Amino acid sequence: MENTKNGQENNHRKVIIIGSGPAGLTAALYSARASLQPLVFEGVQPGGQLMITTEVENYPGFEHGIQGPELMDVMRKQAHRFGAESVYKNIDKVDFSSSPLKVTDEEGRQYTCDTVIVSTGASAKWIGLETEKKFMGYGVSSCATCDGFFFRGMKVIVVGGGDTAMEEASYLTRHASEVILIHRRDEFRASKIMQERAKGNPKIRIIMDTVVEEILGTEEDGRKTVTGARVRNVKTNEETTLECSGFFTAIGHEPNSKLFKGILDMDENGYLITQPSSSKTNIEGVFACGDVQDNYYRQAVTAAGSGCMAAIDAERYLETKEYEESLVKAKA
Ligand code: NAP
Repeated sequence: MENTKNGQENNHRKVIIIGSGPAGLTAALYSARASLQPLVFEGVQPGGQLMITTEVENYPGFEHGIQGPELMDVMRKQAHRFGAESVYKNIDKVDFSSSPLKVTDEEGRQYTCDTVIVSTGASAKWIGLETEKKFMGYGVSSCATCDGFFFRGMKVIVVGGGDTAMEEASYLTRHASEVILIHRRDEFRASKIMQERAKGNPKIRIIMDTVVEEILGTEEDGRKTVTGARVRNVKTNEETTLECSGFFTAIGHEPNSKLFKGILDMDENGYLITQPSSSKTNIEGVFACGDVQDNYYRQAVTAAGSGCMAAIDAERYLETKEYEESLVKAKA
């Protein structure tokens, strides 16, 4: 059997981490520094949601901000420096029914391990427009807390009718000169209190029964800028052009938890359930951290913090297990 640079057999690890956003890479750093030589399945889109962000100004330690992809790159290098290893493949199947735990990659290769840290993150839902993709990170965003600051004194559009849209619209009024909230129906899905807060905010203009057909913008010397959106009233079919500098899609998030359906406990929206103040799931040796188990804070720094918790929980679990096994051996 082939050995890795850490001298471990390739297909058994003490710690396997699935997912490589701030949660996964922080878990990798901590477990690597605990000499656990974690193997990180980074997936085919390594780095998570920060890879589609441009400047990150709210990650502590970077006085002048840092580009999202660069932040993920240094996090990965920091974890690798202490012995973490990355595999750029997706995990397609897990079997947590017995010990050792088993995970199988997209090429059918099976790995066994003593602990799994799940940090598969969440994905923002997108409307699905070509122009939404084109201007992503250049005026199109799904995170007001991350990107609202870039639109000081400018007009922005928020799309959605749930609590996320109300929250994002209200938050953006701190920076923007005007927030245009666009919803596809004549009724919001959001809770009454959040609706009232948005409706009562003089900086928010609400446009109902309207869908976005196209995000408008310019591209000069490779520099893309959002300038507005072409929208259509679904009742009258009338089309209008709205000016804006920022466009926020706020139609919800989806935790990347399908792989664990029927195996790990999750809430009705698919977020993994962990024990209070812990990263422990319902299965012994399996821990969860980051946005796949957090639909409330959803920040890079909170994800990183929970990745640290998961690594410490895994390390303590392994220590206890090894101690118990040594007692059994001593008795035999
Ligand atoms: P949500 O409740 O599912 O609402 C999504 C909204 O986006 C809906 O209004 C939906 O329209 C609209 N939408 C979906 N797909 C669309 C598309 N392709 N084009 C245009 N609009 C589209 O999602 P959420 O707002 O993210 O909330 C998710 C959960 O988190 C909820 O339980 C919510 O209460 C909770 N949450 C709570 C807070 C808080 O308490 N502070 C903050 C955020 C979220 P339709 O209504 O027509 O379907």
